[in-house]
Amino acid sequence: MAKGYNDPAMEEKFQDRYFHSEDSNPEFTKKVEEISRTIAHMCYQCGTCTGSCPSAPRSSYRIRRFVRRAVMGLENESLTDPDLWLCTTCYSCTDRCPRDIAPTDIIMAMRNLAFQRDIIPRNFLKTIQLIYTTGHGVPNNDVNRAARVKLGLEAEPETTHKYPEYLPGIQKIMDHYKMKENADRILSEGE
Ligand code: SF4
Ligand code: SF4
Repeated sequence: MAKGYNDPAMEEKFQDRYFHSEDSNPEFTKKVEEISRTIAHMCYQCGTCTGSCPSAPRSSYRIRRFVRRAVMGLENESLTDPDLWLCTTCYSCTDRCPRDIAPTDIIMAMRNLAFQRDIIPRNFLKTIQLIYTTGHGVPNNDVNRAARVKLGLEAEPETTHKYPEYLPGIQKIMDHYKMKENADRILSEGE
């Protein structure tokens, strides 16, 4: 909790690094557990997850810290941390956790909650737009079409590229969750 300096630089420099019980939002813990369907509160901080994580040696990303934040209900710290997006979802931590927790799914839940607050890297938003318009996150292009023909294949694969009549079904699902609408809005608002 900040002490209320009027200058944002001072505020940042002298921010209160102690945890206070009022920083904890038990609703956040509940939401993360509901979405991830994993028992975050059973974590006893052994560190096996971080020791398994391919992202940890090359960054400040620490999955164990995110699990701790989930348990402590530290919503803002979790959702505004750029490291949230460094998980490769390799599931090594989930494979090895001695408490049968799925830390990967805790990260997925936090990313979902972050998106609900418009906190999301642009590449995800671009992917949403591509899937909405083509049915593919990585759509076909002219170079690939020429390569496919050279290989004796049809220019378009047996997907929505060849059968665009299936696209409205995909769009209906995405519209239900307002994915395209939100992606367009956040991208148009810029950084
Ligand atoms: S491996 Fe499991 S119990 Fe150990 S710190 Fe990670 S989440 Fe917690
Ligand atoms: S799933 Fe994510 S958090 Fe778990 S080990 Fe892999 S990269 Fe790290």
